[in-house]
Amino acid sequence: MSQSPVWHPFTQHGLQDAIPEVVGAEGAVLHTRSGAQVIDAISSWWVTTHGHAHPRIAAAIAEQAHKLDQIIFAGWTHEPAERLAAGLRARMPASLTRVFFSDSGSTSVEVALKMALGYWLHRGEDRHRIAVMDHGYHGDTIGTMSVGARGAFNRAYEPLLFDVTSIPFPASGHEQATFDALERVCREGAAAFIVEPLVLGAGGMLFYRADTLAEMHRICQRHGTLFIADEVMTGWGRTGTLLACEQAGIAPDILCLSKGITGGAIPLAVTMASEPIFAAHYSTDRAQMFFHSSSYTANPIACAAANANLAIWDEEPVMERISVLGERQEAHLRQIAAHPLVRDPRRLGTIAAFDVGDAEGYLSDLAPRMLAMFRERNVLLRPLGNTVYVMPPYCITDDELGTVYDAISDVLDCIGS
Ligand code: PLP
Repeated sequence: MSQSPVWHPFTQHGLQDAIPEVVGAEGAVLHTRSGAQVIDAISSWWVTTHGHAHPRIAAAIAEQAHKLDQIIFAGWTHEPAERLAAGLRARMPASLTRVFFSDSGSTSVEVALKMALGYWLHRGEDRHRIAVMDHGYHGDTIGTMSVGARGAFNRAYEPLLFDVTSIPFPASGHEQATFDALERVCREGAAAFIVEPLVLGAGGMLFYRADTLAEMHRICQRHGTLFIADEVMTGWGRTGTLLACEQAGIAPDILCLSKGITGGAIPLAVTMASEPIFAAHYSTDRAQMFFHSSSYTANPIACAAANANLAIWDEEPVMERISVLGERQEAHLRQIAAHPLVRDPRRLGTIAAFDVGDAEGYLSDLAPRMLAMFRERNVLLRPLGNTVYVMPPYCITDDELGTVYDAISDVLDCIGS
């Protein structure tokens, strides 16, 4: 048993006792204590967009830490938060007029759900049912697990999870079943529908079409059901556009953003809401205010990092990098698709994925086996069950991406032999 007191997330310590220590990182490369250089092909859990230790983000963090490190945000404000909120308003759909800060993707979703319920309560309507999508993932807190897929990873907590209505994933050719199920729950008065636009991430990198997303949005609008877009993973260019919702031409009622909001350097999240949702909480009655906060809400250092991220989007060719990375991913994916073990190769924007052999489920032995084999080859890839995906920082070089796919090819050969 390891001597370290650290208990790692989503890690079975009984199977992985030796945890590699990372001492530094730059671009898409991690440096370990033992001297290895590891290519980060999953952007350190999908957060690192412009590469590790981006000098502008690092400088913004350092400067802000010397100026104002932290201030209670209930009833107080500061320049980095005001600037960031204005910057987000300018870039996100125009109907999203209000910005509520929090610290993680999960919390941004919890906030979205609470905003939706508060909206209906203050309008005097009894609507509290939440519609969700099969295979969805929105975080690991009790509320976000409730709106996510149920499985082995939340079995212990099942008795505490609240009841939701889950609609089928719109697999290609089966979209109508999704629309019918959504129409039913909306007609019955669902308060809100929460969904990951275009890609269900942790559920297995499952892609669906933009026109399907648009139709789901139309159904919700028809019945007044609030549409919550969880773009925690898909936001900040991952799917080829700043937001995945853009590809469907829709503006959600509530938008959750985190991960790439600081370029991946420091935790921060926002939940953006349309004016009617803010207005429903606006009153002289204290009982009607929005009852949510955390100690570090809108931490100035994190906001400064996010402002540096926005400046990078404005001043560096980020969209160009995204488009080039997408093309390179496509070319590699096409090559790897010829391997007899590869099933359903797919790509959207900067995300490439495929399944290895037939469905195995999240807890299959294949995932940790592959993870260890990738680690031996100095590549950070973390398959979801039998799904391998590559989601690197946008700055990854041709050579680095080539090394990632060489490792994948090698690992597939080893598994197949
Ligand atoms: N929502 C989506 C779509 C996610 O992919 C994730 C994390 O992977 C979350 C929410 C939770 O974010 P966090 O891990 O920052 O709490």
